[in-house]
Amino acid sequence: MEDNFDYISENLKIIRERVGEVLDRCGEPERKVRIMAVTKTVPPEKVNFAVSQGIDLIGENKVQEYTSKREFYDKSAEVHFIGHLQTNKVKYIVDSVSMIQSVDRFVLAEGINRKSSFRNKTMDILCEVNIGGEDSKSGVLPENLKSLIEEISGLENLRIRGLMTIPPRSDSDIFLGKMQELFLKTKQDFPKLQNFDTLSMGMTGDYVQAVKYGSTLVRIGTGLFGERAYR
Ligand SMILES: *Cc1c(COP(=O)(O)O)cnc(C)c1O
Repeated sequence: MEDNFDYISENLKIIRERVGEVLDRCGEPERKVRIMAVTKTVPPEKVNFAVSQGIDLIGENKVQEYTSKREFYDKSAEVHFIGHLQTNKVKYIVDSVSMIQSVDRFVLAEGINRKSSFRNKTMDILCEVNIGGEDSKSGVLPENLKSLIEEISGLENLRIRGLMTIPPRSDSDIFLGKMQELFLKTKQDFPKLQNFDTLSMGMTGDYVQAVKYGSTLVRIGTGLFGERAYR
């Protein structure tokens, strides 16, 4: 059975073009925006096809799904963990991901730090911010971000690379703008965080606006692979 994955190349081309257009319009053609392929429910063959088309970053949001699929993945792409993470599951992913984008509490950061130090590894992390203060979402509240980073920055085997968010669906422009402000302010508040360069925001529905508000990494699932079949 030969599946035709051409739609994935078409989708990727459209995403690249749109991102490029926004950057041109913003007058920042040289700003780098990474395109992450979010793989939940997507079989490894499709993920690998996307990698063959130039995707170099994969986003995983469930530990169990990831550990069951990873042996089939093309190893040339980098993997970031982007989903809610329990501290006791860090051990399953610490060896094979290069960044954990969903750090929203100190105990989790401590767990990642401990497991990373056992492996003589420094893990890149993003702090996930619940910018809309929604009960249904994880993430640190914006008003608690500064103290969380103060605590985390003492952990030797973590490198805080920036912020991640999933903004509310409505008024997304307002929240994307708030996120951009918070990112710039945090950078000013912590001049010692030298690698604080990543603002992970924008999904299929809002990546164009997200790039307008300074995103450096967009996480695309549906817009690349099509509607998810289940879940
Ligand atoms: C599923 C998911 C995405 C991608 O969502 P789409 O709307 O399908 O592009 C991005 N980020 C996170 C954290 C996700 O769980």
